[in-house]
Amino acid sequence: MKLVLATHNQGKVAELRAILEQSVPGIELVGYDGPEPIENGTSYLENALIKARAAHAHTGLAAIADDSGLAVEILSGSPGIFTAIWAGGKDNVANRRLLLAQLKDIPESHRAAAFVCTIAMVDADGDECSFTGIWPGSIARDERGEHGHGYDPIFVPEGFEVTAAEMEPEVKNVLSHRSMALEQLASYLNQA
Ligand code: IMP
Repeated sequence: MKLVLATHNQGKVAELRAILEQSVPGIELVGYDGPEPIENGTSYLENALIKARAAHAHTGLAAIADDSGLAVEILSGSPGIFTAIWAGGKDNVANRRLLLAQLKDIPESHRAAAFVCTIAMVDADGDECSFTGIWPGSIARDERGEHGHGYDPIFVPEGFEVTAAEMEPEVKNVLSHRSMALEQLASYLNQA
């Protein structure tokens, strides 16, 4: 079965292809180079669906899309869908700095957060479903670690003292919100 991943990011296609093609026999994950829709949803699910629907409409194939972000409890779930542009632009350093400044006076007991990833799927007939992974943790006081991307240097997964950027990528990749959502998608595809 051919499945389109609704992203122009070839790195993401390669990463998800390696995981999905290993766990779902007969799946062929392909990239998407059609028009990108405006992501104006109000939730991870709405944004993931907007992208998956656009790829399905353009290709006629089953399509998946993911949307992810960071939810900080004391900020009522923000940055949420604005995670990528929290400081105004797509600058990870500025985004992390702003979040650390916003939590400057917040004690350890109130720094709970979670990475969230929703994968939406529109199948070849247009039927829709979704899968969500939540990786609980807390926001560190300072940046630590060289691995990973985005907010990894300031996210300490629950049960660990290190940040996600201090973890070996292979370790992070089996624990993360994205891996949890992908696992659910894989088991759905294996039952289909
Ligand atoms: P996207 O949905 O993959 O584009 O991610 C949205 C935002 O969440 C970006 O700012 C990412 O840096 C951040 N983000 C999502 N997943 C992770 C992660 O695993 N580590 C660090 N940041 C992440």
